[in-house]
Amino acid sequence: MIEMYFCPKCGAVMIVKNVEGISTLICVKCGYKKVLEGSLSLGMKKTTVFTKYVERREGVMFDIPPMAIFDESISCPHCGKRGVYYWRKQVSSAESSDSIIKTFKCSNCGYTWIETE
Ligand SMILES: [Zn+2]
Ligand SMILES: [Zn+2]
Repeated sequence: MIEMYFCPKCGAVMIVKNVEGISTLICVKCGYKKVLEGSLSLGMKKTTVFTKYVERREGVMFDIPPMAIFDESISCPHCGKRGVYYWRKQVSSAESSDSIIKTFKCSNCGYTWIETE
């Protein structure tokens, strides 16, 4: 399973660094930082990459872009409630061909996760 994290500000890949004993995600592009909470859930499908940078103090509407679509039929894997925003972003990388990253964000608890298409 590949662990990948994307910056909620600019969409660039984030790397995990140990900062004073705390695993922290750092954006390689803009320097945005988030504390990495826990470890990735096991048993999820391989294309699903969970982002563990949900900040409890931040508002749920945080980092939802204007092109986000609200889908009432999708339920949040974190709190189980229906009603999730999602949006697509094209990501290019040197190692592989372009791929579409689909970002989901729960409107209830703010949990965010990513799937690749
Ligand atoms: Zn960034
Ligand atoms: Zn939720």
